[in-house]
Amino acid sequence: MTNQNTRPTDEVHDVVVIGGGAAGLSGALSLARARRDVLVVDDDRPRNAPAEGVHAFLTRDGVAPRELTRLGRAEVEAHGGAITSGTVTGVHRDDDPDAPFVVTVTTPGTDDREVRARRLLVTSGLVDELPAVDGLAERWGRDVVHCPYCHGWEVRDRVIGVLATSPFAMHQALLFGQWSRDIVLFTNDSFTLDDEQAEQLRARGVTVVDGPVARVRAEDDALTGVTLVDGRTVEVGALAVVARVRSRAGFVADLGLEATEHPAGVGTHLATVEPFTGRSAVPGVWLAGNVTEPMAQVVAAAAAGTMAGAAINMDLITAEVAASVAALRAGERIDA
Ligand SMILES: Cc1cc2nc3c(=O)[nH]c(=O)nc-3n(C[C@H](O)[C@H](O)[C@H](O)COP(=O)(O)OP(=O)(O)OC[C@H]3O[C@@H](n4cnc5c(N)ncnc54)[C@H](O)[C@@H]3O)c2cc1C
Repeated sequence: MTNQNTRPTDEVHDVVVIGGGAAGLSGALSLARARRDVLVVDDDRPRNAPAEGVHAFLTRDGVAPRELTRLGRAEVEAHGGAITSGTVTGVHRDDDPDAPFVVTVTTPGTDDREVRARRLLVTSGLVDELPAVDGLAERWGRDVVHCPYCHGWEVRDRVIGVLATSPFAMHQALLFGQWSRDIVLFTNDSFTLDDEQAEQLRARGVTVVDGPVARVRAEDDALTGVTLVDGRTVEVGALAVVARVRSRAGFVADLGLEATEHPAGVGTHLATVEPFTGRSAVPGVWLAGNVTEPMAQVVAAAAAGTMAGAAINMDLITAEVAASVAALRAGERIDA
């Protein structure tokens, strides 16, 4: 909501895109190319920023995350889209039928600013909540990883540890076996293997280490091992972790959009009512990328943004056709 230091504005856009990662920039590109007035608000904290490169993105394998967004921003701007640096701290709806969404943008060092939008595309991503293990956060995205399709190739044939935070670690331990024959599962007091799981791990040659984990060790800026609370250290060259995820979505609460538990049990997300287009339960608001689908890699987030952009454009056209027909009929009544 507006506070004393908020500058209201008559700045109105067809679409405000909240978040300028792969999903938001792809949506904005679709909309800009459809000759829509689109504004992207982004505070430059892409989820994969700690990683050296984006992998498994056809034709862009290894590109630095911020180089990808730099290229994306340039493409949006080349088609007339606008990008502003700032954090969206609130969105509310008022009774303006043409542009009902009021978006508050906070930029350090300046007063908050309000912009209006006819439609919203929310692509604000998520936060990975890392387990509280000493030294782990510093290595996140380098040799402490979560996704074999993003990093498996880079850590192949190393001893790969899997740090359990839930029973999902079983899935990861079997999955990472595709990239290395040396997998060590640290159960970390987070679950107990049943007989079938223990047999599967034995059959696949996975070493199981029980007991809580205290810290990860590194030398010369490379992971060397995992130390347990009881003092044992097990050598590993990479560590896979399942971090719980939390959608970055508090700013849409006033619209009635609340984060809920994702069906896969990996954390929270904003749910769509039409996954293919990203339409949400709130009329006029679309969702794309990790804010709604935590498992989407960069290329999938970009694809979702593209679909949402096209759906929003059609929604605007539908409203514009209805307005034109109403105006035509009113004119005919006057002429008659
Ligand atoms: C360490 C790591 C490495 C990864 N490596 C790969 C890989 O190699 N290949 C791959 O395909 N995937 C990889 N991923 C997954 C990848 O990060 C996601 O698929 C991708 O970031 C999703 O794009 P997005 O646009 O949905 O979200 P993001 O890229 O996270 O973009 C969201 C944007 O919204 C902005 N934002 C958030 N809240 C606000 C707000 N209130 N106001 C304004 N702006 C806001 C953020 O600053 C950010 O710029 C990796 C993930 C991690 C954690």
